[in-house]
Amino acid sequence: MQGIVSSKVLGIIGLDYSGSTLLTNILSGLPDTVNTGESHWIIDRNLGCKECGNQPCPIYTQEMMNELRELSIPTTEWWNVIASHSNSKLIISSDKRPRHYDRLGHPNHVILLIKDPRANITSWCSRKFNDAKREDEFFTNEQVERGLVWWYKLHKEAIDWLEENEIPTTVLFLEDFVSNQRERLSSIAEIFSISLNDEQKTNALQFWERQLHYIGGNHSVKRLDKNRYFYKSIKIDERWKNRLSDESQHEILVDRRVSIVNKRIQQFRILGPDISQK
Ligand SMILES: [Zn+2]
Repeated sequence: MQGIVSSKVLGIIGLDYSGSTLLTNILSGLPDTVNTGESHWIIDRNLGCKECGNQPCPIYTQEMMNELRELSIPTTEWWNVIASHSNSKLIISSDKRPRHYDRLGHPNHVILLIKDPRANITSWCSRKFNDAKREDEFFTNEQVERGLVWWYKLHKEAIDWLEENEIPTTVLFLEDFVSNQRERLSSIAEIFSISLNDEQKTNALQFWERQLHYIGGNHSVKRLDKNRYFYKSIKIDERWKNRLSDESQHEILVDRRVSIVNKRIQQFRILGPDISQK
């Protein structure tokens, strides 16, 4: 191990397709910060950093990997090992689900990342029901309902866990973050008493210009095809507009489960607007 540093962990909790990879890549540009991505895959799937293309990765070195894989899980040392090997003061993790943090150690602070349920459910349905490959076809009521069941189950699990463990939590709405990037980035940095100048903000936000290192993620930033929706941009996912009928869009917004989640998150600090008012 290298010198011991006093480090903090910011854990992202959110659903698949909620924008956690985007957010952690941006936050990896904060000073003295390492982005672990979905670090549980180091032990669960024997993965390392596949993003930078270096063999070996200069951050996720073989030495660090070995040390992590030798820990007995659950552990209180996971984040310390990552911090000391990478010489970081802030660790950003997108391990996303409470059960991973129960094994690897609870974060000092959590960002509960919430994407517009219409967009999130559409992403899930696109993956789940991809036999209907057509990109202009509406999902059926039954498919949307299954998406809602998934959406609610995981939000409930997250909120129950945050309450039970009394973890300091900030709620961030993905669409709001995209619309107010510089402001929200400052607010997130301030959680850890980091103040950013304009250049640092630009550097963080233009993550595709930096060498990135992280574990897992749905896609590679470096190898993303330039025709893809999110290529070198931070934008709001509006693809759901072609996949949900007007009726489905409405049903999601007024669904009782969505209201319950909106209500329960009011106990946390919320960055930006309250979606329940939309
Ligand atoms: Zn790397």
